[in-house]
Amino acid sequence: MRVEVIHPHGFCAGVERALRMARAALAERNVYAAAEIYCLHEIVHNETVVQGLAEQGMHFVESVEEVPEGAVMLISAHGVSPAVRVAADSRHIRVVDATCPFVAAAHAKIRENFSKGLRTVVVGAPDHAEVRGYLGEPGACLPEDVAPGEPTGKVVQTTLEASAYEGVCTATRDRQQAVLSFVEKQRRASGRLAAIGVLVVGSMKSANTGRLAEIAKQAGALSWRIGSPDEVNAIDFSGIDVLGVTSGASTPEETLHAVLSALKE
Ligand code: SF4
Repeated sequence: MRVEVIHPHGFCAGVERALRMARAALAERNVYAAAEIYCLHEIVHNETVVQGLAEQGMHFVESVEEVPEGAVMLISAHGVSPAVRVAADSRHIRVVDATCPFVAAAHAKIRENFSKGLRTVVVGAPDHAEVRGYLGEPGACLPEDVAPGEPTGKVVQTTLEASAYEGVCTATRDRQQAVLSFVEKQRRASGRLAAIGVLVVGSMKSANTGRLAEIAKQAGALSWRIGSPDEVNAIDFSGIDVLGVTSGASTPEETLHAVLSALKE
């Protein structure tokens, strides 16, 4: 079986930026014995990344109420609703805002629509942190809440399938497109879809990781999704001639390399 790494893969610019901001906040705290640093939600949906930051002293919490008055609070790449910012402000919490610029632009769009008298439909998983943030903006609603014929704006969770929705971020689109191109190239070369596999590395919590595996499957390849190299042994690759390996936007490059080593063994 030939193994090929699919490019681009792994950390997107929004995740890189959030991690830079998290590390800078931790470094500042360590140098100046500054306030404790809290991160609202997991900074990205990846256990290895979260555990690494926790070991360096970052506290992870699920609500702003858990952050002590006067502490520093990092907002994850997924963003938050305006109510969270108000709550932080009222308790003198210093905010480090690592909201991805793509997500921040969608928040701004919802507010702009509202200022024009339009509600905005939010397309995505209602329990995902990014979508919960959008739904806290004025005039934001779920598709099922819209009256037939009501003119509305629309924003889309940034990690949905690019071919189905406009508005996903370019990192999502490029990673999805790379998987499709890989499957298509191999199909043209061999003419045998059954012999093409795609292995996607990333946390089970990561929406964009799951989407990559679905896209490979829809394109006709066999696909698997794993979180760590230990899971490689449980996969039956018999019949696969070429295996594409990719990773989600929240997966560290080291995890992908560890999976490649496990595949070699
Ligand atoms: Fe930003 Fe896209 Fe990365 Fe999400 S996947 S953090 S929207 S660049």
